[in-house]
Amino acid sequence: MCTDESGILYGYVESLAMVLIAAPAAYGFGFLDLAGTLTAAAMGIVVGFSIGPSFLGLLILFLVVNSVFTRLGYVKKALNEAAEPKGGRRTWTSVVSNGLVGTVFAGFHIAMPSPVFYVGFLAAIAASSADTAATEIGLLSRVRPFMITTFKRVEPGVSGGVTPLGFVGALVGALTIALVAYLIVVLSHLGFTPSAVYAASKASSAPLYLVAVVVGGFVGAISDSVLGATVQARYKCSKCGRITEKPTHCSGPSTLSSGLDAIDNDVVNILATVLGSASGVLVFALI
Ligand SMILES: [Zn+2]
Repeated sequence: MCTDESGILYGYVESLAMVLIAAPAAYGFGFLDLAGTLTAAAMGIVVGFSIGPSFLGLLILFLVVNSVFTRLGYVKKALNEAAEPKGGRRTWTSVVSNGLVGTVFAGFHIAMPSPVFYVGFLAAIAASSADTAATEIGLLSRVRPFMITTFKRVEPGVSGGVTPLGFVGALVGALTIALVAYLIVVLSHLGFTPSAVYAASKASSAPLYLVAVVVGGFVGAISDSVLGATVQARYKCSKCGRITEKPTHCSGPSTLSSGLDAIDNDVVNILATVLGSASGVLVFALI
């Protein structure tokens, strides 16, 4: 049995090794561009050094699962003009919008270790995972999406558009993260992951993590759709008249047709993640 101090040191080394392997791999496989890789590596260090390498492993799993989902939907998305730019390679803004809230919770844990911050971190990651899975799986739907706020039919790929298959995707995305979190908590109490030094209060709390993280993830994905339908900026192209989410189209400027100018897809992502992780923390605190 190692002391806490050597356990922490071992955790640092382990985290560093994971980042040094995962970051070049993420770049090599084309999951992230260079700035995205460096941003993700910095976040990985914060997470590994605060709440431990087990949760860093979860973050890496999230990136891999998300990237695979993005690849699955890429062809269909390309047909609908909704594809992620750069062939699915994510940029640093995408990394920040998906990872910022979780990293902040991990940072809080350094200042004041508490299981609440684990749940906040996990629910934030689950929210991003649920949203990505909902989007990518939802795009495979043969049923036309409907707007979550008005129930009117919309084109595939429009923010706020949802399908039954998308809801299933959201649940799968949230469950994936929650199940791994559950496993980490259970294993840490059996002594298999000594580096999760602060790992949660009681072994009996593991199912609670599962519920809180699934709820947080699902609420996050729903919030993303609702915010996408209401406050996210939409523009009308002055040349072709199409409604898009980008301020420029047909190599010219477009005019704001609905939503708020400052709120793009990345801002919606962050807000939805905040709502999702807050819900997860609330569920954890109330049960
Ligand atoms: Zn246009």
